[in-house]
Amino acid sequence: MQAQTTLHSQQDPWEMALEQFQRASRYVPLKRGIREFLMYPRRELTVNFPVKMDDGSVRVFTGYRVHHSTVLGPTKGGIRYHPDVTLNEVRALAMWMTWKCAVAGLPYGGAKGGVACDPKQLSAGELERLTRRYATEISVLMGPESDIPAPDVGTTSQVMAWIMDTYSMHRGYSVPAVVTGKPLSVGGTVGREEATGRGCALVAREAAKAVGLRLEGARVAVQGFGNVGYHAARLLHGMGARVVAVSDSRGGIYRSEGLDPEAVLRYKRETGSVAGFPNARPVTNAELLELPCDILVPAALEGQIHRENAPRIQAQVVVEGANGPTTPEADDILHARGVLVVPDIVANAGGVIVSYFEWVQDLQSFFWEEAEIHQRLERMLVRSLQRVMEVARTHEVDLRTAALIRAIQRVSDALFTLGIYP
Ligand code: NAD
Repeated sequence: MQAQTTLHSQQDPWEMALEQFQRASRYVPLKRGIREFLMYPRRELTVNFPVKMDDGSVRVFTGYRVHHSTVLGPTKGGIRYHPDVTLNEVRALAMWMTWKCAVAGLPYGGAKGGVACDPKQLSAGELERLTRRYATEISVLMGPESDIPAPDVGTTSQVMAWIMDTYSMHRGYSVPAVVTGKPLSVGGTVGREEATGRGCALVAREAAKAVGLRLEGARVAVQGFGNVGYHAARLLHGMGARVVAVSDSRGGIYRSEGLDPEAVLRYKRETGSVAGFPNARPVTNAELLELPCDILVPAALEGQIHRENAPRIQAQVVVEGANGPTTPEADDILHARGVLVVPDIVANAGGVIVSYFEWVQDLQSFFWEEAEIHQRLERMLVRSLQRVMEVARTHEVDLRTAALIRAIQRVSDALFTLGIYP
């Protein structure tokens, strides 16, 4: 499968995902055919579909849904709306979902979906029609026992509600468990909206402990002030850390004395961006990554930390809120420099863990208290990070390779037990 270059990434994400897999799979005894099978996406769907626009015209959009692995259970993975979405990006994100679910011990395989579009340029009506048509197109793969989507970049709980409703309309009854990240009013769970950011904050706290960094007063820079970045910043601020910089697609802001994430969110809601926030120095997204800080949380897109800027990263700890923000070359540079990188498949697993809680609650039609969600999330994440750290010590590898070793081991053990059909 040929890799192709995306606009926002220095290295193709699919190439990155394969390289990471190859590095880690060396540590797991696997037959060549099994190794190859784990590399390929199980199935891929590309859909081209028309949407009626508000001005009466018709536009054709391209969307994807990729199932990377179905070995551990039904597939789970978000849906991205972004102009740069490509099949290779969706493949990479689906593969990362397989490993993320496996490391966290969830009964899921990995999937991902996306539509190449700019949701900011669409009216609410256009967005709804696009979503309902895309949901119909991928409904051949989707289902509460087969494939359960969730939000990702550019999609929201409202988009999930439309997906659920579209699927339910075709069945003739309500099927809340077909999608997670829904609003509370239609079977969503408390704690899901902030779950990924909460997980990042918890992981940052544990990683800081591991390197002997005091979280109180630690300087935090967050790239991407969206769902993940905002909640991570808000919760780290609440834990006593100093959020010195945040950014979004239009630019960033830096204030060495610290920013109040809630005030920045209010400003972003009024103006559409964090850029221009008063009493803060403007910085570009590239500059933000190299600012003086202790904890860096890339929470935007892939390939942001690469071989050119990795030598200049000043943080002691990198917590990957985004999927695939660090290229394999940058991983080597950061590891050699003693920077602790908590990889995406551990650091941002809070989202899929609480999505799993949502799915379980929907299937049982029995809902849990918020405190229980937070406690279970913390227990699962902290345990998962500790086990990954143990593997890293045993094999003397970085945390990404260690997490992948655990994930590949879990999937290949299951595959060995099931055997190759027929
Ligand atoms: P979002 O759409 O809520 O926010 C994305 C943010 O990134 C926005 O602030 C946007 O302006 C900014 N951004 C977009 N392009 C950028 C660029 N080129 N440079 C800097 N910033 C840019 O999306 P999200 O759900 O917060 O997802 C962010 C990352 O976290 C993605 O990599 C996603 O795959 C990952 N992730 C999300 C979840 C989840 O539950 N939402 C779970 C796991 C991982």
